[in-house]
Amino acid sequence: MLIHIYLVKSVRYIFVTGGVASSLGKGVSIAAIGTLLESRGYRVTIQKMDPYLNIDPGTMSPYQHGEVYVTDDGSETDLDLGYYERFTNSPLSQINSVSTGQVYFTVIQRERKGEYLGRTVQVIPHITNEIKNRILLLEKNHPDIDFVLVEIGGTVGDIESVPFLEAIRQFRLDKGPDKTIFIHLTLVPSISPAGEVKTKPTQHSVKELLNQGIQPDILICRSKDYLDEEVKSKISLFCNIPVKRVISAPDIEHTIYEIPLIYNKEHLDNEIMEYFKMENTAPLFDANPTLEKWQSVVDVFKNPETVLKIALVGKYIALSDAYRSLREALWHGGLPGKSRVEFINIDSEQVTEDNVADLLSGAQGILVPGGFGERGIAGKLTTIRHARENKIPYFGICLGMQCAVIEFARNVLSMKDANSTEFNVDTQYPVIALMEDQASITDKGGTMRLGAYQAKLTEGSLIQKIYKSPEISERHRHRFEFNNRFRNDFMKSPMVISAVSLDDRLVEAVELPQSIHPWFVGTQFHPEFKSQPLKPHPLFVSFIDHARKVKLQT
Ligand code: GLN
Repeated sequence: MLIHIYLVKSVRYIFVTGGVASSLGKGVSIAAIGTLLESRGYRVTIQKMDPYLNIDPGTMSPYQHGEVYVTDDGSETDLDLGYYERFTNSPLSQINSVSTGQVYFTVIQRERKGEYLGRTVQVIPHITNEIKNRILLLEKNHPDIDFVLVEIGGTVGDIESVPFLEAIRQFRLDKGPDKTIFIHLTLVPSISPAGEVKTKPTQHSVKELLNQGIQPDILICRSKDYLDEEVKSKISLFCNIPVKRVISAPDIEHTIYEIPLIYNKEHLDNEIMEYFKMENTAPLFDANPTLEKWQSVVDVFKNPETVLKIALVGKYIALSDAYRSLREALWHGGLPGKSRVEFINIDSEQVTEDNVADLLSGAQGILVPGGFGERGIAGKLTTIRHARENKIPYFGICLGMQCAVIEFARNVLSMKDANSTEFNVDTQYPVIALMEDQASITDKGGTMRLGAYQAKLTEGSLIQKIYKSPEISERHRHRFEFNNRFRNDFMKSPMVISAVSLDDRLVEAVELPQSIHPWFVGTQFHPEFKSQPLKPHPLFVSFIDHARKVKLQT
């Protein structure tokens, strides 16, 4: 493997654009390319360019944008960064997530300081230069990296994408074609009922890119099935791309984790190597130990030994991307035990005392995820009570942990109307309250407790056994926390405070002892952000393992 690393003389840049339609899966696609490059021993980092004007998605509704992903350094980013971290070991921080808002903000601040020395400030060159600088920043911050992969968000043809496309066109001019490759992800639809495959949208999309001065070097074609040679030849001819660089990306049946394997079978990584004239002694699929591991992940999805149902009870259930990392982490949790996890999606606003048992009857585990605002809280509390009293494995994350504390205070510690001050500032029992340093904050963007913090685990607790470590580091995104005024009341109760911040000021996790409940854990942090298919997070593995035990008992 080291041999490959020495052969790379300088950083190569891979730009991925998308055409024809949005939501083709550019994020997963570029992440899968990262997997393949890493499986050859190269080091990669992946950057996302988002064309919207928000500085980051932190202030957007999950319905607008899916989940907000959080990196170790506390950046609130696009959920695609979650795919990057699940598929690769790419170092990710604030510089990996760029938005039009950030780019303009920087340029306008510079203009106000008079740094442009009287010149007219324009999209070209000032905005495009700022975009190029942000791409170059990755190489500067990670001098050992072999490949910088850049995903250009949006669809070619959108007004918002134009400055980014212009910037990468210039980037090729600056660095040369031997250091840059343009990969375009398009859609090749089939028209039912005959299933005839249509190449024209792809042709138009490539023309649109050409209008921006960009000729793609490789096309990845999303389609229902593998494209046959005739279709590939046609696309090759009209789009001016060698036929072997027209890559099929058929719909996957079982899991997105199959995508690196499909790309490998289509020789995408070989073509990238050949394009850059890099040594092409790729371990073929069968001899590549990393890809074998991915294959065993896919095998569990295809042929699981058990199928488990986990109830997800939250406010943003209708959009599966709103809890993207969580769903993925639950899948990962099933892998060691060869279980496939399926979800029972329950809108917390619909849960009542009367229907809770019915709604949750098929679930072997219950998870209440993070969230904001009072809507749906009553249903979450009812759900948690049901899980606690009926000894169904329960995992509460962030708001799900806070609700577990509220439910326990109300129904076990007889603190009538105990609540979080997020929902009722006048409650007599504010068991969850605003963190001190949050009280004076008025800005919404980037002001929560964000990113990785260390915590120490309580000796003898369930989560200490699960982590097999006295200290952990996990990511956070919250304003409210367990109120220390009530620590004593809880310490005297069966509920265990199982993790605290290193300075002991913040409660980071609670649990019920296994003598009274098989698996009941709430974490103030978000373990889902650190789970990978090849390295499932231990909390999710343990949770799913207990769900499996429930299934075996029934
Ligand atoms: N709304 C809660 C808080 O701000 C929980 C946040 C979350 O679940 N991410 O503390």
